[in-house]
Amino acid sequence: MEQLDVVVIGGGQSGLTAAEALMREGLRPVVLEASDRTEGSWPQYYDSLTLFSPARFSALPGLPFGGDGDRYPHRDEVADYLRRYADRLGAEVRTRTRVVGVERDGGGFRVTTGDGRCIGAAGIVAATGAFGNPLRPVLPGQDGFAGEVAHAAHYRGPRPYTGKRVVVVGGGNTAVQVGYELAEAARVTLASHSLIRCV
Ligand SMILES: Cc1cc2nc3c(=O)[nH]c(=O)nc-3n(C[C@H](O)[C@H](O)[C@H](O)COP(=O)(O)OP(=O)(O)OC[C@H]3O[C@@H](n4cnc5c(N)ncnc54)[C@H](O)[C@@H]3O)c2cc1C
Repeated sequence: MEQLDVVVIGGGQSGLTAAEALMREGLRPVVLEASDRTEGSWPQYYDSLTLFSPARFSALPGLPFGGDGDRYPHRDEVADYLRRYADRLGAEVRTRTRVVGVERDGGGFRVTTGDGRCIGAAGIVAATGAFGNPLRPVLPGQDGFAGEVAHAAHYRGPRPYTGKRVVVVGGGNTAVQVGYELAEAARVTLASHSLIRCV
């Protein structure tokens, strides 16, 4: 069985940054990424998404975003940046490698991948993110609701909602940005249990 120092599970921004930190400590991490690219969840976010923080505060260690530090990069620019970051990292990244199991094995771990291979590792970093597993709480009365209930993770743009009545539940960045652009095409109410914070 192959033996590695550290296996980082997930090649999004957390996994890539963890690999960078591990390498600085003299370790040789291997990043296992389920998809065919190192862009994390960014390509799946809605089409109009720009970063909520300016470029100057959004770079990962060792690679500036470039360009005007005060601009808010678009989703696709972030995905491209993460791809470049992985290319320059110098750590081995294995794409199309989904981890399906992690077990303790003596003083280390045994990692099983989707193709049935086993890898031994002294350490594991789990960086699989939350986006692949969206939280969909059951709302009271939802059974009797005839309309569509969608999670923001599956929202790409306003077109399917043209002329409809939409309630956006939440008061964070995603809710406000989605609600704002939906209001161009639909009648929108933003439902938040507390005042929307402007920071
Ligand atoms: C709408 C929206 C706007 C945002 N705006 C900002 C912003 O402006 N600034 C900011 O800093 N953050 C922002 N975020 C948050 C940011 O996108 C996330 O915090 C970030 O993507 C999390 O990175 P991650 O690497 O932890 O997870 P992800 O990006 O989700 O990456 C996880 C990776 O793990 C892989 N993976 C999952 N399971 C397995 C497995 N079993 N085996 C192998 N690989 C696996 C996935 O394929 C994926 O590539 C935003 C998020 C959203 C939803």
